[in-house]
Amino acid sequence: MTETLAATAALQERWDAVMMRNYGTPTLALAHGAGCRVWDVEGRDYLDLVAGIAVSALGHAHPAIVEAVTSQVRRLAHTSNLYIHADAVRLAERLVAALDVPGARVFLCNDGATANEAAVKVALRAHPDRRHFVAAEKSFHGRTLGALALTGKAAIREPFAPFGVDVTFVPYGDADALREAVTPTTAAVFLEPTLGEAGVVPPPDGYLAAARTACDNTGALLVLDEVQGGIGRTGAWFAHQHAGVAPDVVTVAKGLGGGLPIGACLATGAAADALQKGDHGSTFGGNPISCAAALAVLDVIEQDQLLQHVREVGQQWAGALAAVDGPLVTDVRGRGFWLALVVEEGSAGAIETAAREAGFLVNAVAPDAIRLAPPLTLSSAEADTFTAALPTILDAATRAVSVGS
Ligand SMILES: *Cc1c(COP(=O)(O)O)cnc(C)c1O
Repeated sequence: MTETLAATAALQERWDAVMMRNYGTPTLALAHGAGCRVWDVEGRDYLDLVAGIAVSALGHAHPAIVEAVTSQVRRLAHTSNLYIHADAVRLAERLVAALDVPGARVFLCNDGATANEAAVKVALRAHPDRRHFVAAEKSFHGRTLGALALTGKAAIREPFAPFGVDVTFVPYGDADALREAVTPTTAAVFLEPTLGEAGVVPPPDGYLAAARTACDNTGALLVLDEVQGGIGRTGAWFAHQHAGVAPDVVTVAKGLGGGLPIGACLATGAAADALQKGDHGSTFGGNPISCAAALAVLDVIEQDQLLQHVREVGQQWAGALAAVDGPLVTDVRGRGFWLALVVEEGSAGAIETAAREAGFLVNAVAPDAIRLAPPLTLSSAEADTFTAALPTILDAATRAVSVGS
């Protein structure tokens, strides 16, 4: 067990008293961060290989984000959607350029779930006579009701059913099953380019292309949920760009604002014009502060050549992790800075705890997977410190697992 010290225990007690019980009580309370390091309320520091679930793309307190946000909050914090502000337009232009599809249009929102809600409405407007969707088993698209309807984890979806849309779930990665499920009544196919919350599980080669073909055959929209994988996480602006597949709709959020809340739904072709005046909206979506942060993220990714950095360091790191000689780890999967150590079933929690005690934040995303989704700014030397510490972490976790069983 991680030793729980006084400041953490006091916060946990207050949390338990006032917070809804939808999260378990977290065992770590963070106070501040700088670069790829964070400090807890006891003053202990960690190398952050989680980045707030693939969010803090430039690490913590990056000067470009600090400057962009503070100067914007001094000028104008909020406009609502009644007025234009230049950064929202600039951000939409940048996102369309990164998608590299002329004529694409953008809806700015607040987070991943609301980006997917917008995508659902785009699909329903593009196909007013269709109410059927296809999505993947084990997928995650968010907690609001539209996004939840498409989420392939029955345990979190079913208590809130029914949803008013008809969804067929197919095993992720099985192109035949997908082809069979898509019919002329299907409005859209929703897929993650790699399953994120299910443990960073990439599909077999050709899967996204097969989904594209199935959609083309029936007119269904291909919606790719890049909320976790987009904005450089895999070493491309969008994860689907590695597969050379052109989606009709793409959603992004997590890494976009570098820690400030923002999401976006991008639509191309006819889907770009599916939403008409009055069809959708958000009071806070694309607010000036979040847009300023997002523009700073995109600028730094470009100026510091972080896409190339993530591709190169990610590949070396995955190779080095796979070569680590230690118990429990059976495989390494993923791409760029979106990796998972595949570990013996049930050992992930003990590995996360042992890593924390050794000064590293990692995420036991599944009982058999440790997710690594660090800031895109993680240096190769920082990545190496984790690789070097891993055998000791695994030994400690092995002892904990055998004591526990
Ligand atoms: C995190 C996530 C979401 C939901 O994003 P929120 O900002 O938590 O609403 C949706 N889709 C994917 C793939 C995600 O990883």
